[in-house]
Order: sequence, then C-alpha cells, then structure tokens
Amino acid sequence: MRIILTGGAGFLGSHLADKFLTEGHDVIVIDNLSTGHASNIAHIKNPRFQFIHYDVTNYLYVDGSVDFVLHFASPASPIDYMQMPIQTLKVGSLGTHKALGLSKAKGAGFLLASTSEVYGDPLVNPQPEDYWGNVSPVGPRGVYDEAKRFAEALTMAYHRYHNMNTRIARIFNTFGPRMRANDGRLVPTLINQALRGEALTVFGDGSQTRSLCYITDQVDGLYRLAMSNEIEPVNIGNPEELSVNAIAEMIRRLTDSDVPIIHKPLPVDDPKVRRPDIKKARRVLNWEPKISIEEGLTKTVNWFKKGSNKGLQPLVQSRR
Ligand code: NAD
Repeated sequence: MRIILTGGAGFLGSHLADKFLTEGHDVIVIDNLSTGHASNIAHIKNPRFQFIHYDVTNYLYVDGSVDFVLHFASPASPIDYMQMPIQTLKVGSLGTHKALGLSKAKGAGFLLASTSEVYGDPLVNPQPEDYWGNVSPVGPRGVYDEAKRFAEALTMAYHRYHNMNTRIARIFNTFGPRMRANDGRLVPTLINQALRGEALTVFGDGSQTRSLCYITDQVDGLYRLAMSNEIEPVNIGNPEELSVNAIAEMIRRLTDSDVPIIHKPLPVDDPKVRRPDIKKARRVLNWEPKISIEEGLTKTVNWFKKGSNKGLQPLVQSRR
C-alpha cells in the first residue's frame, strides 16, 4: 500500500512509519515539525519513504495513488497543547477535514488517532468504547479533548455520508524511546528527573491512576486496526493500572536513584483514573499488550541513559 502518515515525525508516528515500511508499504510522512523532530525519522534510509514538511491544516494534495491515510498530526502532551491551543483545535478539526478529504479524493482508507482523553475525567473505570465521557469543553484541556471528539464525529460523518472506509483508534497513554525529555508527559519527565538526580514531581497526592502502554504494543495494535474492518472506535492501551505514586517508585528503582518524590498541585481537569477496557481490541483485533510496564520502563530508561534525546527541543513554529 501507499500510505500517507500525518504527524509521522512525532513519537508515535515515527514508530508507525518504521512498522509500515517493515511490512513492505510505501510511506509518505507529512509533518510541520511543531512538536515532532526530524531526528525521529533521520534513521530511515528507505527509498519507499518520503518526508513532506507541511502543515496539514492547509489544503492537502499528494500526487499519485494513495491507499491509506493515517492522521496522527496533533500536539499530544498537555504542555504542548496548552502552549498551542488554537493550533491544536485547528489540526483536530481543519487538519482532520483535510486528511479525510485527501482519503476521499484518492478512494483510500482512513485511520484517526483519537485518544482516551475523549473520556475526560471518567466516571466509569475501566473505560469501554461505549462510554461517552466527562469532558469540560471550556477547561484548559478542552482544546485537545474536544478537538479529538470533533475529529471522531467528522470521521463517522465521512463514513456514513460518503461511505468511506474509516477507523478510529482511542489511544491510551503510550511511552517509549523518541519521547522528548521535556514534553511534560509523566514517563519522560520522571525518568529524566531521576537521571539528573532531581526530585520527582508528582501532581496531587499521586493516588490518581494511569495505564501505560509500551510503544511496540501500541504500534502492533494500531497496525492491526488499520488492517481490520472495524469502523467504530477501538481502545488501544494497556489495562495494567497503577497509581502515579507507584509509577514514580518504579522509576526510582529502575534508575537506581534515591531522589525524593515531591508533590505539586493537581492540574485543572486532570483525570483521576485512566484504564482502557480492551475486550473489543481482544475480540476484533486479536490484540493485547505483551510488554509489562516494568519491562517497557526499563527499555525507556536505557534509551534516555544513552542520551539519545539530549537537547531535543520542540520546534514550536507558530501559535496561531
Ligand atoms: P507528537 O507530538 O510526538 O507527534 C505529533 C506530530 O504531529 C508531531 O510530529 C508534530 O510536529 C505533528 N503536527 C502537529 N500539528 C501538525 C500540523 N498542523 N501539520 C502537520 N504536522 C503536525 O505526539 P504523539 O505522542 O506521537 O501523538 C501522535 C498522535 O497520537 C496524536 O494525534 C495524539 O493525539 C495521539 N495520541 C497519542 C497518545 C500518546 O500516549 N502518545 C495518546 C493518545 C493519543
């Protein structure tokens, strides 16, 4: 297949590019490098790979046939989307519209990278796909959550009205190599604090829970979803639920460090619990994660220790 992958210079997108190339497909990444980095794809020397530096909220045109569009472009960490609130809303709305328009014009399949944040601060735990969520549209996180909820609605409208072959992946917290040390997400932040010998910062009392999926499992689930016939949303994440305190303790142990854990005020609308119900992914994709959190964290600590991420800064271009 010839694949268009928006956001392919980011953390998840660059691993997906590797996967689709390994499986024998052609991959064209379209990315504006706002939160991603060219170094994430610099290792790809494959003639079946192409990179286009472009903002997908603008009109999208690509020469030749396209079989599948994977729409992953969007700031994804709270620090990024709160710094770029309007860009986040634009890429979730206009960007999704342009990516769907491209797939429609080419008769291609389409996969939307949605998020567990569509469930907001959930009132049910674990979260199944038929839970509608508890999201504040006007809170600071609304720019990301509502953009993704709009993107899901638009994707379903293109499926229903234009009979398009679409997929919606509800991605839960994923971690691994190529995350930015300074992107503000839980795992890279705690690992890098520990490696620098600084206190680990935990928001609130740390009893809030997170379920962390290792990148190779996530990519495997996303690939299976793209290849499946499932139109309705599918949760892809690891149901192993831990408190943030337990995750901080584990990172302290895996980095051999004895730094203190300090607590800071809980951010507005921070989810208190987060855990995917993955019965559907098991049933329709025959998928479940294989890597435990401890094993994934060990690999990620080793990657950061090698200094692979040193000095990588987000290249924020515009804050429209
Ligand atoms: P990331 O920030 O590393 O990657 C996002 C990429 O999109 C970056 O390379 C960025 O430069 C690009 N981008 C942003 N706006 C763009 C625009 N207007 N035009 C072109 N490119 C643009 O984040 P990630 O963690 O790799 O997330 C990728 C996708 O997966 C996002 O859509 C995110 O919402 C979704 N997701 C990720 C997670 C996770 O745990 N990593 C969880 C849920 C959902």
